Amino acid sequence: MKGRLFIISGCSGVGKGTLLKLFLEKNPNIKLSISATTRKPRDGEIDGINYFFTSIDDFKLSVQNNEFLEWAEFSGNYYGTKKSFVEKTLNNGIDLILEIEVKGAKQVKNKMPNAVTIFIMPPNLEVLEQRLRGRHTEDETTIQKRLHEASGEIEAGKLFDYQVINDNIQTALINLQNIFNSERNINV
Ligand code: 5GP
Repeated sequence: MKGRLFIISGCSGVGKGTLLKLFLEKNPNIKLSISATTRKPRDGEIDGINYFFTSIDDFKLSVQNNEFLEWAEFSGNYYGTKKSFVEKTLNNGIDLILEIEVKGAKQVKNKMPNAVTIFIMPPNLEVLEQRLRGRHTEDETTIQKRLHEASGEIEAGKLFDYQVINDNIQTALINLQNIFNSERNINV
């Protein structure tokens, strides 16, 4: 049987990285896709683990060669998911998570309607701003750009199959687990 595809999106700073890390620790048989990006690595990020960090030219070449299942520009950088990796993983019967932004999520859902889309919602925009500033990984211009993207993303997120509010991380984790448990019991 083929694996199931799950797409998780949420605004920058909503805490989806932490949530996913905890979730994957509890679900080691689910894989997280590694995207290609033209963004520069943050401190501590490793090529081939967090992302495949690529040049703009290489990224554009992959687009021309139709290698991406989806790709999008987000906050001044390009991000994309390789088709070959997704196909191979699902054909091997392994469930896969794509942690991508909303434009890419829409592209995948159009191509693969059986994919389950989950949007991680912030409790409100004030909390989102506090968290984005609190992690000290972006400069002010980048923070402003990401906050600017947030309202549009939240609107788009309302059309996802599921919304999980990340107010309390343990509650969010339980809700996420329940979604996976029920979807993995459905044969498609
Ligand atoms: P960050 O720069 O904070 O790592 O990621 C910025 C945004 O890009 C996040 O919303 C993240 O989910 C999204 N993203 C990461 N990889 C991909 C990808 O392969 N495709 C798309 N469309 N978005 C991605």
